Amino acid sequence: TPNANQQVPAAAKPKAAAAVPAAQDKIKATFVSLARNSDLYSLLGSIRQVEDRFNRKFEYDWVFLNDQPFNEEFIAETTALVSGKTKYGLIPKEQWSYPEWIDQEKAALAREAMKEKKVIYGDSVPYRHMCRYESGFFWRHELMAEYEYYWRVEPDIKIYCDIDYDIFKWMKDNNKDYSFTISLPEYEATIPTLWKTTKEFIEQNKQYVAENNLLQWISSDNGETYNGCHFWSNFEIANLNFWRGEAYTKYFEFLDKAGGFFYERWGDAPVHSIAVALFMNKDKVHFFEDVGYNHVPFHNCPVDPEVRKQKNCACNPNEDFTWKGYSCTSKFYTLTDKKRMKGWEKFAD
Ligand code: GDP
Ligand code: MN
Repeated sequence: TPNANQQVPAAAKPKAAAAVPAAQDKIKATFVSLARNSDLYSLLGSIRQVEDRFNRKFEYDWVFLNDQPFNEEFIAETTALVSGKTKYGLIPKEQWSYPEWIDQEKAALAREAMKEKKVIYGDSVPYRHMCRYESGFFWRHELMAEYEYYWRVEPDIKIYCDIDYDIFKWMKDNNKDYSFTISLPEYEATIPTLWKTTKEFIEQNKQYVAENNLLQWISSDNGETYNGCHFWSNFEIANLNFWRGEAYTKYFEFLDKAGGFFYERWGDAPVHSIAVALFMNKDKVHFFEDVGYNHVPFHNCPVDPEVRKQKNCACNPNEDFTWKGYSCTSKFYTLTDKKRMKGWEKFAD
């Protein structure tokens, strides 16, 4: 049936009296959370934060995706907190299992070796399916078809500041297709051949590389090697059409055939980030410095007290990761000629 991957029909919620944008001003946008039933109570905390800081004023929809059917408790608790419509989708089996070209013994040996080296999630099979799904499939779910923009939300995140404008409309009006709050280098042990594979793809598909790209952000030697810098994809507000487009579709297919999601432990963060850096014009990429965000163990907290006051932020600027030595964000500022927040230098170590 056409609705096989949609568990329950979207439930209408009673409208709040507040100034929710009129239907014609609303962007085709949704929140999206990939989650297990066991993530429910960690995710409720995230939803509450997002609703209080932003969505109760805008009532955007929320799509939940899972490789197992969501249970009634999950559906009831999440529907109760989300101000927009909630939708629950089951992931098609073939998008959460080994493709036929993968040598499963080779994959098992790779996990064993990574376990030995104590690579984080190195021995996990579900984590690999998760990374592959977020890299190549979440926007293909039928529940996502009607949307243009999405905001990815994970369990246990925090939003530190008020977002009093329609952030999706802001993305559209300002011609932004990808945004982030934290960036850092990836563990080399999870992606030993990702860059080599990417270079092979580019060699055959030069037409996809944007003129005004961010190659300098992901490579410190003009493309010879990958420096590991990536947008931390547990937070993403982005345009779905970028993933739907030909360049990314072909790139993902190429990576998937190479097998690194299973033979190594390629994360969706470096995969998304390399694609954005190479195939998207850099003026379409945005760093949100006024949202305030936490996913363990990193924080984004506006360092300018004026900004914190104006946006009602509740966070410690000394914990802000943006200007720390390990962050890749200062380089992003330089490459995009972005004006730095007042007082940033006092937080750079
Ligand atoms: P980390 O942030 O890299 O430590 O990974 P998480 O455990 O937060 O997982 C990333 C996202 O995928 C979160 O939204 C999780 O809820 C979700 N997730 C992770 N593993 C699974 C899984 O096996 N099944 C489902 N349905 N979701 C998962
Ligand atoms: Mn997480």
